[in-house]
Amino acid sequence: FSELVEEARLSARALLDYGESFFNPTIRLGVTGLSRAGKTVFITALIHGLVRGGRLPVFEALASGRIARAYLAPQPDDGVPRFAYESHLRALLAERRWPSSTVDISELRLVIEFQRGNGAERTLTLDIVDYPGEWLLDLPLLNKSYEEWARESLALSRSEPRAHLAAAWHAHLATLSAEGREDEPATLEAARLFTEYLRACRDDRFAMSLLPPGRFLMPGNLAGSPALTFAPLDLPAEGHATDGSLWAMMVRRYEAYKDIVVRPFFRDHFARLDRQIVLVDALAAFNAGPEALHDLEAALTGILDCFRVGRSSVLSALFRPRIDRILFAATKADHLHHTSHDRLEAVLRRAVNRAVARAESTGAEIDVVALAAVRATREALVARGRDKLPSLLGTPAAGESANGEIFDGNTEVATFPGELPADAEELFKGGAYRGLSSAAADGTDFRFLRFRPPLLEPDAGGEPALPHIRLDRALQFLIGDRLQ
Ligand code: GDP
Repeated sequence: FSELVEEARLSARALLDYGESFFNPTIRLGVTGLSRAGKTVFITALIHGLVRGGRLPVFEALASGRIARAYLAPQPDDGVPRFAYESHLRALLAERRWPSSTVDISELRLVIEFQRGNGAERTLTLDIVDYPGEWLLDLPLLNKSYEEWARESLALSRSEPRAHLAAAWHAHLATLSAEGREDEPATLEAARLFTEYLRACRDDRFAMSLLPPGRFLMPGNLAGSPALTFAPLDLPAEGHATDGSLWAMMVRRYEAYKDIVVRPFFRDHFARLDRQIVLVDALAAFNAGPEALHDLEAALTGILDCFRVGRSSVLSALFRPRIDRILFAATKADHLHHTSHDRLEAVLRRAVNRAVARAESTGAEIDVVALAAVRATREALVARGRDKLPSLLGTPAAGESANGEIFDGNTEVATFPGELPADAEELFKGGAYRGLSSAAADGTDFRFLRFRPPLLEPDAGGEPALPHIRLDRALQFLIGDRLQ
């Protein structure tokens, strides 16, 4: 019954959205990616590019001068925080530091006044919805029982390198009996150790992607509530949860998590999106090695599965398919020389292709791009002995260090970026290949160096445009067709 109510709610919502969009053409664009993938920077740069007018040659409507004006408007959903565009932009432009990251959902509405190809004046409303990718990876839980989830999570945690990180949690787990009496202190401890294990997996050195439940790492206002206080148990092959058992308590809380966290997100946000960009910090995965890359591939498959979940219900099939374009974007491409940008794209395409094959009929158009929403480096040829090596110039953030040198945040240095292999397959095979190869002859390892945002000269017209890599291609794919 509750599923029917859910369906009815979804359909009513879809009708309302449809009605509004009929009179007032609107795209709801979802921007997601795991924590630190680059969502905040991407959205800030995208809005700035539209509102100020950036150098975006591939974004046809703007490049050909058909966009008369783009401006921010009050957002439609009163219960969702506004994306803090102004302060994020100030951080980038005036303070030359990266803005603070996404920890919750937020939204911003942009109105674009443009001229159609045939000369008619039109407006397109773009609602940008920014939400943590961790929430997206929770959607598959809707189709999973506690028992399925616990068995899968446990199996995953017993493979390397996860097993190593899970040692403390596993030791505690061994002291619990699923069929024993429910026990709050033991459950609190299990949830704490399980969450620590999840957090360790997300560490830079491991960069694991597949980690539901997402709210364990980003609890927000639910921190400490029972819906977030559960963990997988080692379940017997046979039997079921009896009243009053630890097992039954975990089942109850797992279901509460789905009711309180996952379903509302699906209904109020995810099911209403028209287009989606998924940002991926693929470089972090390369640096961590092949396991992280396989993990990323599994996470991307999981994400594409979510889009299928979105269209599997009978009633929503009555309405036009919602998400009709999905773009996977590898971010921070400015850490690589331009000769590697296509290779970065190829790796992501390879990771997604399998997912697309598995997810058969998502029905959506899918594309892949390697981009830098804000380009923090410049390319140059730097003399090394008799050779001139292609290198990147950038200003490492204050406190960053390489080769014993600690940077003050104001010194530009030349780095020799790692090269990606020409054959994407090599990265997935692992073994011989571990992370990016650093080309620095003296062994300096610049792979993890974080650069400050670029130093920009003020334009004659005021605010300078932000330099980027292929942001215009992303825009063209995501909204270009609606500005024809
Ligand atoms: P979010 O957690 O997905 O919102 O990620 P952010 O947008 O806050 O980005 C996380 C960090 O990645 C930033 O603080 C930057 O250090 C880095 N970053 C994001 N986008 C770019 C980019 O286009 N170029 C470079 N060089 N660094 C970036």
